[in-house]
Amino acid sequence: MQPTSQGVTTPMITSTAFRYPDEDGQVVYPRYFNVSTQQAVACKIAQLEHGSHGLVLGSGMGAITAILLGLLERGDHAVFHSGIYGGARSFATGRLASYGIEHSLARGTQLASFQECISPNTKLIFFESPTNPLLHVLDIQQIATFARERSILTVLDNTFATPINQNPLDLGIDIVVHSGTKYLNGHSDVNCGAVVTDQACMNRILSCAIDLGATLDVRGCYLLERGLKTLALRIERQNHNAATLAEWLSRHPRVRQVNYPGLTNHPAHTLAANQMTGFGGMLSFELDTDEQTAKLMLAKLRIATQAVSLGGVETLVCLPKETSHAKISAAERHREGISDTLVRVSVGIEDIADLQSDFGHALA
Ligand SMILES: *Cc1c(COP(=O)(O)O)cnc(C)c1O
Repeated sequence: MQPTSQGVTTPMITSTAFRYPDEDGQVVYPRYFNVSTQQAVACKIAQLEHGSHGLVLGSGMGAITAILLGLLERGDHAVFHSGIYGGARSFATGRLASYGIEHSLARGTQLASFQECISPNTKLIFFESPTNPLLHVLDIQQIATFARERSILTVLDNTFATPINQNPLDLGIDIVVHSGTKYLNGHSDVNCGAVVTDQACMNRILSCAIDLGATLDVRGCYLLERGLKTLALRIERQNHNAATLAEWLSRHPRVRQVNYPGLTNHPAHTLAANQMTGFGGMLSFELDTDEQTAKLMLAKLRIATQAVSLGGVETLVCLPKETSHAKISAAERHREGISDTLVRVSVGIEDIADLQSDFGHALA
């Protein structure tokens, strides 16, 4: 219950000008991320991620850039996993050098590929698990322990798993980041991001975020907080729908391979079962056809929509070649194992029988 209004929803405080100093002696301003509407939702996300300090921003990339520029300085080195979100990878490979920050790309899913990249000035490791779009699973605790022994900070993008299925801070990660645009909001109608970490890291990230200015407007905060109220319910359903669809697809004669950490034949199924409490709503699969036929199949879907983005209540499908990995060269894409006929599915909350018949019809 909100003390100011006695309402069950947080008041949307639309003012950008506030009398100062407030009761705590602070100057309140939206770009300082300290309007109570912003803080209420940041606090909820921190609790969901089992962290002490939360911050919501205007996009996932706003959050990622504030973390990297807030924690890294000229002369530092950072390691990025090659399977991270394309925007984060492009910021790392294309922009960090101009700030005097070095980087390496760790390829492969094992700790060894990170170990190989470490140098004496390495300050940060950034990765995702499960990865997009191949759903590779990395050993979060092992990487976190390795980094902590060397005083290297770890950042995990937990967008795909959500805090319902995976809590990286409990596994030793220092900073969790989300594209809140995806599952946290869940309704494909807000662009936002979130960071959860401890006080020391948050101070550095917040001061950078204030300079960068990726504020989330209170109307966005309201929609994000509203989406959070059904997060657990949505994820429960999406876990179930994705697992059922993955099983079904893996028995379909036109499907060569299904990538889903919940399948017992996933190479890291046991690891996923240890570090996740649910396997998530994202899957991808390889069709036993050429690219033209794959495109035709997607066009035939009537419930699932061919669209970019993910994590909403509606099922979305895409060819990563044309969307998330469109800017990466064909050679690099193939090196990563992303073929031209790989289909990614963000499974929604629809009736699973309807979804299966939709895919059945399109595959036929
Ligand atoms: C979408 C996405 C991002 C970027 O988030 P925006 O809200 O679009 O800025 C970062 N990481 C992952 C895993 C994503 O899927």
